[in-house]
Amino acid sequence: MEKTLSIIKPDGVSKGLIGEVIRRFEKNGIKIAAMRMLWLTKKEAEGFYAVHKSKKFFESLTTFMSSGPIVVMVLEGENVIAKNRELMGATNYLEAKEGTIRKDFATDIEKNIVHGSDAPETAVSEIKYFFCDLDIV
Ligand code: GDP
Repeated sequence: MEKTLSIIKPDGVSKGLIGEVIRRFEKNGIKIAAMRMLWLTKKEAEGFYAVHKSKKFFESLTTFMSSGPIVVMVLEGENVIAKNRELMGATNYLEAKEGTIRKDFATDIEKNIVHGSDAPETAVSEIKYFFCDLDIV
């Protein structure tokens, strides 16, 4: 079974969307294998998004990601990396398909409710950033 990392970002948590996001995962046959809530420091957000360090939105993105609590989850299922990305919708909510999480709830290209790993290698390193093996059921 494939695994991926999902994050409900600070805007998703503050808008009361934790239950709604999890409902969409479970409704689509995705299993939650680990879950916790935390509040990232700016440094921890910078570490997570290190791949975007050279982007002009890096400062703003990491300030946003450390602005409030987030929910991090390990999702498990067949083809779950792609399935989760499909449920999330495009990065820019204006381009996201109808019925996706970002289309329904995002208000901004940056404040787009959820994060999901984009490939098997990033899924492994992103899961490791938040969870140890013993956390994953
Ligand atoms: P994702 O895989 O769909 O989350 O997209 P990316 O990996 O390309 O970008 C990571 C995150 O950076 C996105 O989810 C957004 O929160 C943010 N982001 C991406 N592009 C932009 C942009 O052009 N401007 C701003 N302010 N934020 C962006």
